[in-house]
Amino acid sequence: MIVHHVNAAPMNPPFLSGLVAHVLVVEHPQGLVLVDTGFGRSDHRDPSRLGSARFLLRPERDEAATAASAVEALGHSTDDVTDVVLTHLDLDHVGGLADFPGARIHTTADEHAAVFPRPGLRDRSRYRSAQFSHDPRWEIHAGPGDTWREGLTGIEVLPGVTLVPMPGHTVGHAAVAVESDRGLLVNAGDAVFDASVYTATSPSGRPLEPVRLLRVFERVMAADGRRIAGNHAALRRLHAADGVTVFPAHDRRMLADLSSAAV
Ligand SMILES: [Zn+2]
Repeated sequence: MIVHHVNAAPMNPPFLSGLVAHVLVVEHPQGLVLVDTGFGRSDHRDPSRLGSARFLLRPERDEAATAASAVEALGHSTDDVTDVVLTHLDLDHVGGLADFPGARIHTTADEHAAVFPRPGLRDRSRYRSAQFSHDPRWEIHAGPGDTWREGLTGIEVLPGVTLVPMPGHTVGHAAVAVESDRGLLVNAGDAVFDASVYTATSPSGRPLEPVRLLRVFERVMAADGRRIAGNHAALRRLHAADGVTVFPAHDRRMLADLSSAAV
């Protein structure tokens, strides 16, 4: 499967300008499949949908920087997107759902239950009900799934596309693995922020220095910080395996490398 790498939520938080949200557009035999969506067109038109988090994340208002525009730039219609597989339901990952109202939306049962019928009080700045008001077509996946690899379990939601439960950042967070024509690509979502935690170099061989603020951001945003180290260890094992590339949603160095390598 050919996979395109897209920054679908350019943001400029204080001291972390140039933050990205790494989204995949997958040319799947069954239709176009997205892994995460970033912000959507409605978020750019009406930033109040994002609530107070927008003052921290400071999204760029640019409708061209959406998954919908990326799909159209590839010569497709947004109706061609049949499925969206989500790492989690935070506002910077799901805002684009409304641009694909016909698609099936895959998530874990734990993550769905954190948001519906209503998010808990302390989660209402991260889970934004306005982004789900179009009544998405949920495909909810319960349980840990089957034995997968590197000691992890997975739920194959479409042929070659696997949800890998990895709670910590949020209660039902998952990584999403895609069998691409360039090996297994694993969108770790927010299970790791700084790629230098699990690899010394980017895929093209550039050395990766630690980004301390990304690590701080990760700790602050975690629903269960005790799980962070275990998730990092699992991602390190996965990335070290032959033919596997792990990338965080928010490390722009990995996005730059992988998008320049894409066809
Ligand atoms: Zn995020």
